[in-house]
Amino acid sequence: MSDVFQFLNVPRNPGEKVAVEKRKFVFKEIYSPLDKVTSGEQAGRCLSCGNPYCSWECPVHNHIPHWLKLVDEGKLFEAAELSHKTNSLPEICGRVCPQDRLCEGACTLNQVDAGAVSIGSVEKYITDEAFKAGWRPDMSGVIPTGKKVAVIGAGPAGLGCADILVRNGVTPVVFDRYEEIGGLLTFGIPEFKLEKEVIATRRKIMEEMGVEFRLKTEIGKDVTIETLLADYDAVFMGMGAYKYMKGGIAGEELPGVLEALPFLVNNVRNSMGTLEGEAFVSMQGKRVVVLGGGDTAMDCNRTSIRQGAASVICAYRRDEENMPGSKREVANAKEEGVEFAWNSQPVKIEKNTDGSLALTLVSTQLGAPDEKGRRRPELVAGSERVIECDHVIVAFGFSVEPESWFDAQGVKTDDWGRTIAAEKQTFKHQTSNPKIFAGGDQVRGADLVVRAVYEGRNAAEGILAYLGEW
Ligand code: FAD
Ligand code: SF4
Repeated sequence: MSDVFQFLNVPRNPGEKVAVEKRKFVFKEIYSPLDKVTSGEQAGRCLSCGNPYCSWECPVHNHIPHWLKLVDEGKLFEAAELSHKTNSLPEICGRVCPQDRLCEGACTLNQVDAGAVSIGSVEKYITDEAFKAGWRPDMSGVIPTGKKVAVIGAGPAGLGCADILVRNGVTPVVFDRYEEIGGLLTFGIPEFKLEKEVIATRRKIMEEMGVEFRLKTEIGKDVTIETLLADYDAVFMGMGAYKYMKGGIAGEELPGVLEALPFLVNNVRNSMGTLEGEAFVSMQGKRVVVLGGGDTAMDCNRTSIRQGAASVICAYRRDEENMPGSKREVANAKEEGVEFAWNSQPVKIEKNTDGSLALTLVSTQLGAPDEKGRRRPELVAGSERVIECDHVIVAFGFSVEPESWFDAQGVKTDDWGRTIAAEKQTFKHQTSNPKIFAGGDQVRGADLVVRAVYEGRNAAEGILAYLGEW
């Protein structure tokens, strides 16, 4: 049990990082898990603030101080039960949330420079250890309703939706075009942030709860939306955001210039042994430049390092302070040998006679803020420089592409392709087709795992109300 000055006497510890020389050759999580003693010590650093800012900043509004207290008291199963009341994938959010911008960024201990409570690491500990010790979600009070809902997409939004539906007696049947569940958790986020066994364990638990997965099944190709609407009581769409955003750079079509997501997905599929047809590109011995400053760019940087790249430079058009990616991941990338070219705008890529590439960068300075309040990068005249490389990976993000059947089914989208709510929305997350609900990246545009989980859970509540079960 903690004492009142534990936040001062025990330093913050999010789990020891594996040494750089060891971790940069393997696709394994880099933070060692906390054990019973260290997680209790870390949990005991919480001040139990009357108004917990961490919970407000957490997109699913986890009851953080309460489950920290249970961990401090050694009540693991109670902590797991409480943690699952607000989050369907706590062990995953504990690993991949940018905590520095969310719960931990809001921790009161930052104000006294004591270092935030390691909330993410304790959240991960609770579920990992509870599962190992045999804890399972309590389904004993669930009364089957006989109703079933088709969930399109087994990403965090679809899984969040399925979790709430099954806990309320409605059978979710989750369809995904990929061969495994998880969406970008499996086929985007690399193993050094999230090992695939974690998702496999979650799949087993969800199947035991009564969730049915129908994988390798694309809606609109293998099964029509008309079939789903006829066979199910409602449909949830959590199909994500997959449209590649081009940089508009001359030479972007050249061989050797790669899109970020196929590069990452092929790397995962290659390690899973499920890569079919597509060519696996390894960066072994190659000089790589990654364009972009978000999480995807950091994942491409660190994947290239692990594949044995000769060098990796990450070029971003704003400065470090104004980059969108998690600060933690930038620090990890730097430690692993990635070089950053801040304030650098790519303008053209050319092919050299030996087949290598010449990337022209121009320096930028930050000007007046744009409509989102972020300072616009402006080109500095006469600052061009050329970087010789073998591959350029473009990681400028993703947008949403409406499905071909949306018009016929009356599903409306905004100018950016994002699915929008019904004009008169009776139930949460209902689209302009009353029987179809939506959430996650498909609605928000490319965002975060935890927000997709939140929207999937909320949409399930909307569906239950629509079915008269809430
Ligand atoms: P997705 O995870 O994209 O899942 C959508 C699913 O729908 C997919 O499995 C897809 O196959 C399926 N699908 C689509 N269309 C059909 C169809 N017609 N029929 C059947 N199935 C279909 N977020 C973080 O919080 N932390 C991170 O560290 C982080 N790192 C990231 C790294 C990368 C490289 C990328 C690309 C994203 C990262 N994100 C991160 C963002 C996060 O992964 C997404 O915000 C989140 O996965 C969105 O969840 P979703 O369920 O809406 O969509
Ligand atoms: Fe923090 Fe994310 Fe967990 Fe919320 S879900 S407590 S933001 S790590």
